[in-house]
Amino acid sequence: MVKIFDSHVHLADDLLFPNWEKILQRALDGGVDKFLVIATNPVEMERGLVMKQRYPDHVYLSASITPHEAHTVTKEDVDAIFHSAREGHLDALGETGLEYFYLKETKEAQLDLLEKTLSLAKEFDLPVVFHCREAFEDLFPLLKKYQPRGVLHCFTGTKEEAKGVIDHGLYLSFSGILTYKKSGSLRDIAPNLPFDKILIETDAPFLAPQSKRGKQNEPLFIQETLSVLSDTLQKDQNLVAEQTYDNALQFLNIPKG
Ligand SMILES: [Zn+2]
Repeated sequence: MVKIFDSHVHLADDLLFPNWEKILQRALDGGVDKFLVIATNPVEMERGLVMKQRYPDHVYLSASITPHEAHTVTKEDVDAIFHSAREGHLDALGETGLEYFYLKETKEAQLDLLEKTLSLAKEFDLPVVFHCREAFEDLFPLLKKYQPRGVLHCFTGTKEEAKGVIDHGLYLSFSGILTYKKSGSLRDIAPNLPFDKILIETDAPFLAPQSKRGKQNEPLFIQETLSVLSDTLQKDQNLVAEQTYDNALQFLNIPKG
């Protein structure tokens, strides 16, 4: 069976966590073989560490404070996550980045947290999961400065922004948004990207794909995003699954096989 890598799933979120093992099993049965679990606070990080322990060949863990939650964060929260990174418990840092659409926190506070995360990533050679909304003009100079290995998750920007993401050495990840009827311009961008730089993700429990809209999203539903991406690229679905899987391994520095 073809194997799929869900490169961004909030399995430790309050909405999915009560049933996480069932959800994970359903996905495994459907060919979703690996998961990058994104923890956005210390509680989710602890949950993620348990998942990783129980499914060491399937679950990888990334943690950070999301930019839109920067305002609720205490210094202890940040320290707890940075401590885990130092202990070698994390496979990546993030999601981090800049959220200027819902400006719940000042740009200064977001930039400050992002710079701290980027210097930590450099210190420990960890890849970074970026969230960026309407803030590319502030993100790109920092990418130039720190040159992280990273992915721009849930990309919804313009053609020029996609080029900027790739030019700065990042991977670019498509979520269920790619499957939405009104996402024609996003689908136009995909074929112009280097095939070895594309990842796919669910961002579950959010952003269920077109046929499941309004429902709670889960990793199994990544099949629909894979199918639409394959159509868009005019490539065989197995080939796209395989390439995006390998890309995610590369991104996380996981040995193949
Ligand atoms: Zn997310």
